[in-house]
Amino acid sequence: MIEQMKKIWMDGKLIDWDQACVHVLTHTLHYGMGVFEGIRCYRCASGRSAVFRLEDHLDRLLSSAHIATITIPFSKEELEEAVLLTLKANDLEEGYIRPIAFIAESSMGVYPKDYKVRVAVAVWPWGAYLGEEGVRNGIRAKISSFTRHHVNVSMTKAKICGNYANSFLAKKEAVDAGYDEAILLDTEGYVCEASGENIFIVRKRVLKTPPLASILPGVTRDAVLHIASDMDVRVVEERFTRDELYSADEAFLTGTAAEITPIREVDGRKMGKNPPGEITRSLRKRFFDIVRGKDERYLSWLTFL
Ligand code: PMP
Repeated sequence: MIEQMKKIWMDGKLIDWDQACVHVLTHTLHYGMGVFEGIRCYRCASGRSAVFRLEDHLDRLLSSAHIATITIPFSKEELEEAVLLTLKANDLEEGYIRPIAFIAESSMGVYPKDYKVRVAVAVWPWGAYLGEEGVRNGIRAKISSFTRHHVNVSMTKAKICGNYANSFLAKKEAVDAGYDEAILLDTEGYVCEASGENIFIVRKRVLKTPPLASILPGVTRDAVLHIASDMDVRVVEERFTRDELYSADEAFLTGTAAEITPIREVDGRKMGKNPPGEITRSLRKRFFDIVRGKDERYLSWLTFL
């Protein structure tokens, strides 16, 4: 269960956690057309807290809303203020931030035409999504029997609530089979992404990740691309097959919730000689230094409270 906090920001003001309710006939609850974000706040080395890449997350929220034709009745600046206000109101120094915009007060039916969009921002403490042990030593993943969205079936660049029914099915299948996470292939059979993370492999010291076609454009993925190029690690954004994943030297997942989580096994096949591999370990170290404000070069990615 989520640890209960004091306040949630809803439609322009902070209200008590227990009061942040919606009606059972809320449109998004039935049809899944809402957009959301997942953002993290870290307690930095200086003792102050900072939100990681807040502006980029809010840009993606607004872009998701634009794709979904959901008009968010707040500006980016107002949403930024709402995030910071909610963190402060809950005295949360480190944790997870969940903005959501959803369709409410409408008629029923798939497309209600006239509707009100409501917006909320909740925050709570949330440790490593795939476990501390997963971040340290790697997780076991399974290629899913569920295919990732086709680019013309759902809008893959938007973080739309309903898109996650596909993620739910894949994750459940993997967990029920004793794995930690599902890796989904795209409609052409190439490796796409995990249920809530982007994926990278390393082969002969070259980093490879699927291009921005049917994946969610991850903020952490983008951070890793920057960090790798600063470390002079060659990166290619190119499709690859599941057997290329099986035979890679290293593999890892990236996501706000999962941060950088190495993969130590896929479908019973060990990744490389001694996972996590060297490049995964150095990227992970740089990443955690950056989010905790220990790397001066990346301070522009942090919004301090
Ligand atoms: N793919 C999917 C399907 C996701 O849900 C997420 C999490 N938002 C990601 C990738 C990673 O994105 P980010 O690094 O921005 O959290």
